[in-house]
Amino acid sequence: MLAAGRAVASSLALEEVLARILEAACELLEACAAAVWELKDDGALRRRAALGLSETYLHTVADLSAGEGVTGLAARDGKIVAIADAAADPRVSVRALWAEEGIRAFVSAPLTARERMVGALNVYRRDTHRFAPDELDLLAGFADLAAAAINNAQLHERTLHALSEVEAREALLSTVIGHASDGIIVLDDQYRVVLFNPACEQLTGQRAAEVVGRRCFEFLRCHRCGEAPLCEGACPMTPIFALAQHAIPYSELMVNTSGGRERWVGASWAAVPDGPEGRPLAVMVLRDITAAREADQMKSAIIGLVSHELRTPLTSIRMLSELLVEHDFPPPEARPLLEDIASEARRLGRLIEQVLEVARLEGGRVAFAPQPVAVPPLVTAAVDLLRSQTGRHSFDLDLPPDLPPVHADPDRLRQVLDNLVANAVKYSPAGGRITIRAVAQGQEMQISVSDEGIGIPPEALPRLFTPFSRLAGADQVHIEGIGLGLHIARSLVALHGGRIWATSTPGPGSTFHFTVPLTVPLAAVPVASGQREGRRGGDVT
Ligand code: ADP
Repeated sequence: MLAAGRAVASSLALEEVLARILEAACELLEACAAAVWELKDDGALRRRAALGLSETYLHTVADLSAGEGVTGLAARDGKIVAIADAAADPRVSVRALWAEEGIRAFVSAPLTARERMVGALNVYRRDTHRFAPDELDLLAGFADLAAAAINNAQLHERTLHALSEVEAREALLSTVIGHASDGIIVLDDQYRVVLFNPACEQLTGQRAAEVVGRRCFEFLRCHRCGEAPLCEGACPMTPIFALAQHAIPYSELMVNTSGGRERWVGASWAAVPDGPEGRPLAVMVLRDITAAREADQMKSAIIGLVSHELRTPLTSIRMLSELLVEHDFPPPEARPLLEDIASEARRLGRLIEQVLEVARLEGGRVAFAPQPVAVPPLVTAAVDLLRSQTGRHSFDLDLPPDLPPVHADPDRLRQVLDNLVANAVKYSPAGGRITIRAVAQGQEMQISVSDEGIGIPPEALPRLFTPFSRLAGADQVHIEGIGLGLHIARSLVALHGGRIWATSTPGPGSTFHFTVPLTVPLAAVPVASGQREGRRGGDVT
């Protein structure tokens, strides 16, 4: 009995436990067969496992209705029922079947676990056998052990099943959160980050591994444009924790990013009142709306520009032409006035062209046909154009003779060059040297335009390329411009898959660099040694 008890309790796998119960039961009562029946909620029984019984019998009798047969009796009354001779006992209903199976005596013991009937354990013999009281006691005792072992194994099975379901749900949840395009931050009631999804990492530049456990106000610093951070008194999450409010209305804010820049986000908050350990959590969903906000700002800037910048030359044109109409000036006096009109009209034309170009770029309506392009002729043409308009600047071209072709739209590339060279001239009002360099490396060519002009303070570098940003310095007050040229250049360079940036040099001047992809990456082109150290320079002054 002890050995049998140990055997059935030594496993938690249900099928193995059932197999051991059947073997041990046969051994205990010197039986040839055994079966375990399971009691269902409606009182019916279903055979769960069997040993030593034929397939024919197993197929014929697989289910018993409530109270049916000897097993039904044992399970219904909770009492052991022993049959000494199946052929003669009136309680046996399927005698012919037992005769065919060669079973003469059997006993059915109820299985009770945690004081609840769970089924029956049957043991069969081939001879007629009057089961002695100690045999029946032994079987009843073993049935209790077996029922406990079955119960444990079932619990274990259910736990494993529940665990795998939880794991599957968790995996699904983290896939969804991981792939969500909106940033999701979960915070505990101490404002500590519990979850920070990849979209949030992308939005803020912060790594989840570094911010989980930190308080959001240490790095996120939500604020409305130009106002103090909301953390200093008006955090939208406070009502979630303090007043158990469930959701806070959507609002548009700015958050800090790891690079020290700010981004516009559309934020909404929701409460999870029963987080782990019964403490509330707040879920913050952030959508990056920086591009939309910038577009809005640009629209307002365009309206401001139209009402101011465009009006100035237009007023001059109107006043000068009215003057000419109202007075009958002799030709020599009229000429400077006409020149002024023409120059203001050209200025107006340039402004309108830039605004339209931005609109075309934003609407994706720019003609763009990249092809293999040789850079030196484009640089020379851009420089020649400017050289004819200035006597105060000298131009220095540093273009290696073996420069490989780039993959670019020649008109667009020329537009970028024209803009950078024109700026170099424009922002060097006192004249000076302007150097244009091109270097091919790896997969791209880097082209740089340097001047010796008014320069750019380092803190202004990041916003140079945003639309309508003009530096406030006194030295550029009288320089014409509306702050769209670099924005256009950046969009055109981006169309090519390149980058553009500026460096402020100590001392006078600034340098603008941009990259464009080479037609064939350099690594793939075998270069004869010494070929790349050809003549550099070619002073065009
Ligand atoms: P715009 O020249 O029409 O104002 P840009 O977009 O070309 O517009 O340039 C934006 C601003 O960047 C300029 O207003 C100027 O303040 C600064 N900037 C551009 N190029 C130079 C340069 N070479 N040297 C100094 N400042 C420059």
